[in-house]
Amino acid sequence: SSPTIFLITPTYARHAQKSDLTRLVHTFKHVENLFWIVVEDASDKSDLVAKLLRKSGLRYAHLNVATPKGMKIDLASGDKQWSKPRGVWQRNEGLRWLRETFNKQAPVGNSANQQQEGVVYFADDDNTYDLDLFPEIRTVRTAGVWPVAFVGELLVEKPIVVAGIVTGWDVAYKPDRPFAVDMAGFAVNLRLVLQHPHAGFDDGQPVGYQETYFLRGLGVTLPDLEPKAGNCSEVLVWHTRTEKVNVFAEKRWNARGKFSAG
Ligand code: UDP
Ligand code: MN
Repeated sequence: SSPTIFLITPTYARHAQKSDLTRLVHTFKHVENLFWIVVEDASDKSDLVAKLLRKSGLRYAHLNVATPKGMKIDLASGDKQWSKPRGVWQRNEGLRWLRETFNKQAPVGNSANQQQEGVVYFADDDNTYDLDLFPEIRTVRTAGVWPVAFVGELLVEKPIVVAGIVTGWDVAYKPDRPFAVDMAGFAVNLRLVLQHPHAGFDDGQPVGYQETYFLRGLGVTLPDLEPKAGNCSEVLVWHTRTEKVNVFAEKRWNARGKFSAG
């Protein structure tokens, strides 16, 4: 049987949340044997996300964990969008759920917990995913990597592949990072996640080092990496970002009591 793809998606409330998630649903509905782990950055689960998931027809887990106050980006008080990592607590919650769910039958280290064949991918809610990405993800035995477009101040960031082996990173931003790959540019086998119960993300890491921190926690080394997407020659995921919705007039009208978006 083909491995299940477990997608972990952090998401947070904003005007374009439903439209972004709707687009993801329409992509994921085309993918067989997929399980969507949606983690809201909130202290409660919202009806909006609950309804959207129910309506989707996808297999899913609906989770939530709020990013602690001090770690939340506060644009209003001058924080830069990239100054704090986003989705860290939510991705960890997704990993916790996977371990809780698939280690149930047997203690860590017991081969019985490897019965669920799966691959784990962190799918942010505003990226754009080619359907051809998913068959690539499904074949990941340890850790797979591939190019990501529109990230790191380049059109495409990509692994350097020589004779089928990943030897480094074709990137402009912090090129000395041991794993200079965006969250959208790798997937790992579920086995690794279960075998390394403490591997995860950490908001204390320097900017740009989340991926490195996680992959190192799984014991992954450069030569372990499996180049996907035509030996890393094809773009199958775009780090698109949704423009903030302009609600200037809504606010003005609300203040005058003439209009309520209710
Ligand atoms: N995210 C979140 N809480 C936040 C900001 C972002 O859970 O306060 C999620 C967001 O929905 C996305 C992921 O974290 O799935 C990455 O965030 P974003 O797309 O804003 O980051 P960027 O693409 O700009 O790096
Ligand atoms: Mn994004």
